[in-house]
Amino acid sequence: MRVLGIETSCDETGVAVYDTEAGILGQALHSQIAMHARHGGVVPELASRDHIQRLIPLVEQVMAEAQLAPTDIDGIAYTAGPGLAGALLVGASAARTLAFGWGVPALAVHHMEGHLLAPLLEDDAPTFPFVALLVSGGHTQLLDARGLGDYHLLGESLDDAAGEAFDKAAKMMGLGYPGGPIISALAEHGDPERFTFPRPMTDRPGLDFSFSGLKTYCLNTIAACGGAAALSDQDRADIARAFEEAVVETLVIKCRRAMQQTGHGSLVMAGGVSANRRLRARLAEALGSGTRALAPVRVCYPRPQLCTDNGVMIAFAGALRMAAGEQQQDLGIAVRARWPLSELQPVAG
Ligand code: ATP
Ligand code: MG
Ligand code: FE
Repeated sequence: MRVLGIETSCDETGVAVYDTEAGILGQALHSQIAMHARHGGVVPELASRDHIQRLIPLVEQVMAEAQLAPTDIDGIAYTAGPGLAGALLVGASAARTLAFGWGVPALAVHHMEGHLLAPLLEDDAPTFPFVALLVSGGHTQLLDARGLGDYHLLGESLDDAAGEAFDKAAKMMGLGYPGGPIISALAEHGDPERFTFPRPMTDRPGLDFSFSGLKTYCLNTIAACGGAAALSDQDRADIARAFEEAVVETLVIKCRRAMQQTGHGSLVMAGGVSANRRLRARLAEALGSGTRALAPVRVCYPRPQLCTDNGVMIAFAGALRMAAGEQQQDLGIAVRARWPLSELQPVAG
């Protein structure tokens, strides 16, 4: 089963071909970050127009580099949601049209299922069931993943997503976008003793998160240092360190609880924030060797390029589903800007 995957849910145009026998045959990604930067955030209309210009050339590039002809492709998977409606429509119509032209099935893929399955692209991949921590720009969720399409929400953020919190903290300090990698790099030189930020919602039971309070804490700390314009490089590094530790420790505490609650032996994490090095190290430290209350947990995540949006994860999710016999029957193009992952149905097979 060889599947072309198309991702256009936000500000990345991603294209890839995944083969269930041979693995990733080709991939290409165009990021719109530089284009949106001067507007201070993603402008949906600009995003859609850019996807229109980039998508077909990227498909041609990936097919040429992998030396593939349309007859080598068994199906086309595209992100149908959640995301920006206009951006999703570009990928969905292109995928549906190509599939019609090439005479192969098309399949609508859930963007967050793509993220969730990406760690399974790595060697020695875990098998279901496992706990999934999805930490991206728009989502912070813990799920009990029992099988393909069989995802049960254990907890989620009641306000900002973890990645969004990183982005907003960076903006407050006058740093660029996306904030996650910038804060993370700065935090390396930060003094962990200077500031301590709260670990929101860890003082009560449950697996939900809240990251919006950290924003206020960050803002007050910046004000106490004389305002964003007065921050020294060391101030920025110290704030970044305290902020990152607060987010990471909060995620670690909730992950430990989720492992205890489910009894699963593996934790899979995905989404842009799963690229965070401190998060990876702390999870391995806190869960890897086990305690009296918790058996050792295997922590799995994708290589850094597959943490953020990409076409590979969509091709992969589509290939797994098509290999299990699924395909879209009609020629309709339906996208869903909002689409809870737990609405998917378990895939038999
Ligand atoms: P969603 O998948 O929820 O629709 P998205 O696709 O915009 O959102 P991703 O592309 O998965 O999100 O991830 C982008 C986010 O990851 C940004 O908020 C970015 O700041 C964050 N991020 C990327 N690298 C790191 C890092 N090393 N540390 C922390 N955060 C990071
Ligand atoms: Mg993005
Ligand atoms: Fe994403």
